[in-house]
Amino acid sequence: MNNWLAIIQDCLYPPTCLLCGDPGGSQLDLCASCAASLPYNTHACQRCGVPWNRGAPVAPLCGQCQKQPPAYDSTQALLIYENPASYLIRALKFNAHYPCARLLGTLMAEQLSGVSDKPEQIIPVPLHAQRYHRRGFNQAIEIACPIARILDIPLNLTCCSRTRNTPPQARLSAKERKNNLKNAFTVTKAPTAEHVAILDDVVTTGSTVDELAKALRKTGVKRIDVWACARA
Ligand SMILES: [Zn+2]
Ligand SMILES: [Zn+2]
Repeated sequence: MNNWLAIIQDCLYPPTCLLCGDPGGSQLDLCASCAASLPYNTHACQRCGVPWNRGAPVAPLCGQCQKQPPAYDSTQALLIYENPASYLIRALKFNAHYPCARLLGTLMAEQLSGVSDKPEQIIPVPLHAQRYHRRGFNQAIEIACPIARILDIPLNLTCCSRTRNTPPQARLSAKERKNNLKNAFTVTKAPTAEHVAILDDVVTTGSTVDELAKALRKTGVKRIDVWACARA
């Protein structure tokens, strides 16, 4: 943004911390002390993003990924899904508080700007049409928009759809989640890219993004990264 435009915008709509209400940082709805309190996922499995337990020896891959690697190649999950990260995501998802998407997307873009090999397209995880109409928006798309703009990577919103309306995953075990999601996604138009990033708000066990990655692989996509706000 032009500097003078940013100054005018800061005067008219001063950034306000979404967590405590204090004045935010420059063009960011987050104050410095709340930014420092966010649970950043700094030590994690490179493939699936699962955070290492505190004090555990750091290895590149977790046991699960060594035994049975997922269909995607790597995961960048900015935060660990605990408070206050979970508060920001729930406020977006269940209360349609859009400034949370702008904040989370901007923070993710800052982290991802250091990635050397950028994907050609970003594919937000689609919602089933019924859930989309009930919610009125797809939180993954809302978070992806600022990332696409800041990193200058196009969004692909038309290549795939969620064709099975699966029950909510929250109360299911890892195995039930996997079965619940079998063939949940259909690629309707193969992406014209060899390297894509799937974007989701929260990755819990990884079965949703794995299922979408499997469907994309079948169409010839060679490299699939997963970008998430938070990892459980
Ligand atoms: Zn704050
Ligand atoms: Zn792993």
